[in-house]
Amino acid sequence: MTMTLDRVIDAIVRIDLNWKVTFVSEPGLRWFGYGSSDNIPDSFADMLHPDDAEMFRDTLVGSPESFACDVRVLRAGRENWTNVRGFRLADDTQFMMCFIDITSWKTQDSVLRHAAEHDELTGLPNRALLKRTVDGLIQRDIQPFTVALLDLDGFKKVNDTFGHAIGDAVLIETTRRLTKLIGPDDMLARLGGDEFVIVLVGTDAEQAAARLSSVLLAVARPYDTAPHNAYLGVSIGMAEYPTHGSDYSTLLKNADMAMYQAKNGGKNRISIYVESNDSVDFSIRAAIHRGIHEGEFYLEFQPQYDIHRRLVGAEALMRWTSGSFGRMAPDKFIPIVEESGLMSFLGRWALRYACHQLRAFHELMPDFIMSVNVSPIQFGGDGFDGEVLEAIAEAGVDPARVILEITESTLMRSQAKTERALARLREQGIRFSIDDFGTGFSSLAYLTRLPVSSIKIDKAFIRAIEDASANSLSDRKLITAMINLAHSIDLKVVAEGVENEGQFGFLEQAGCNLIQGYLLGKPMPGHALQALLNTQARAAA
Ligand code: C2E
Ligand code: CA
Ligand code: CA
Repeated sequence: MTMTLDRVIDAIVRIDLNWKVTFVSEPGLRWFGYGSSDNIPDSFADMLHPDDAEMFRDTLVGSPESFACDVRVLRAGRENWTNVRGFRLADDTQFMMCFIDITSWKTQDSVLRHAAEHDELTGLPNRALLKRTVDGLIQRDIQPFTVALLDLDGFKKVNDTFGHAIGDAVLIETTRRLTKLIGPDDMLARLGGDEFVIVLVGTDAEQAAARLSSVLLAVARPYDTAPHNAYLGVSIGMAEYPTHGSDYSTLLKNADMAMYQAKNGGKNRISIYVESNDSVDFSIRAAIHRGIHEGEFYLEFQPQYDIHRRLVGAEALMRWTSGSFGRMAPDKFIPIVEESGLMSFLGRWALRYACHQLRAFHELMPDFIMSVNVSPIQFGGDGFDGEVLEAIAEAGVDPARVILEITESTLMRSQAKTERALARLREQGIRFSIDDFGTGFSSLAYLTRLPVSSIKIDKAFIRAIEDASANSLSDRKLITAMINLAHSIDLKVVAEGVENEGQFGFLEQAGCNLIQGYLLGKPMPGHALQALLNTQARAAA
């Protein structure tokens, strides 16, 4: 009997009412690592993990006749999970306890537990772990913290149109983007469907709104995983502990209400829960509206040089320093401006601003050329050509000194309408340049058909000039070919993103006409460019 018992029971220990150890079985001495009975600790408390002592005492006091629990014991200084079963001996003054090593079960248990608490598709914590975590924060009275509920805008459409495989890929990609944005103390969980939760620890709702503005941008970026007409957004509702709720379900419910307010407010925005129902709008869209009112947008001008390094023109580039979000790159805010329906307005403003600036430049250099970027959206509206002509007339500049930079996607979109507008503007002397040339559909057919006067080779190609790889060789050949082709149909070539002399030398050799880039000049305020023009004019005189 003892033999078999010894096989399953790792140690038998007897203690008295004061926890004094009065016996340890032979296998137990080996298992605990005591060697001989001389090394047995006096008190059972010294054999137990200190964190489990209280629980063990409670168990024993609660049911002294026979008890069972999982505790950690110390073996040679290391902790070891055991299942202990004990009972009171007949003389009423001692307890006999059997220990079984359950470390391996515990590990397996944690694997099972991991599976039970994580989402299969994304690997993120699920609802169960979210609840356990939030309960834990509340129990430890960690405050403030904010529960942000995220619901993707437009996900259902992606799922319905492209199928579940694409839908899943979008969710995984969203997870990847969100994971990058959260801090080490925050938690990202998936509730199911297209709902996620971010718990921001030590952060009140307003701070959380500022931090999660980057989430709006991250989700608004196009998804490579889905066909490119898949445009997503995210509506975020927030509730803060303890102000907006003192338990998990209230916090989640209130975050959910705020999220619906974000949806109703026009989506792709952040709302914070308020009892009165009118949440504060923290969306980038609202910030853009405010920014337009408060004059937060302005233009910078990047000089363009001919191949003899003479300053001949500039590209107008939009800038935004937002009161709520700080300085934001146009690559980030322009897609949101486009999506929110404000592009026509902001584009018109940029055009007028650029034309007025051009007039000032003309006082120093009458043939100075201004390039202005035009979004495909602007061609979508009626009367774009009229607006351009109006801006030019208002500033009193020569239309022949204005170049509109359009992208290949502009030309692919609503062709008839766009072509009509281009033709009408061309009649008035305005010229067009194809921006980011080489990255889009690059069909030369439309270049011969449309009134385009130059192409702008994308900076990705220019970057490749200097590097020594085989790819770079083919990029160099491609640049040469693009330049020759363009020249063969009477188009000028502009290179952008020229950062060093090596690149400049190559482009000069290849016959490129205009150079733009950090090597010769970064984007700068209008008055700084005016000063440059002044210097050049004086040097020439
Ligand atoms: P883009 O039209 O291709 O503009 C050129 C971008 O390259 C600018 O970035 C410019 O600052 C940057 N750049 C210039 N030289 C160098 C260089 O040597 N090295 C490197 N690495 N970069 C250089 P920015 O100002 O951030 O603008 C980004 C994009 O935002 C623009 O790309 C354009 O697509 C868009 N954008 C800017 N302003 C406007 C605007 O008024 N309207 C519209 N629709 N789009 C705009
Ligand atoms: Ca451009
Ligand atoms: Ca470009």
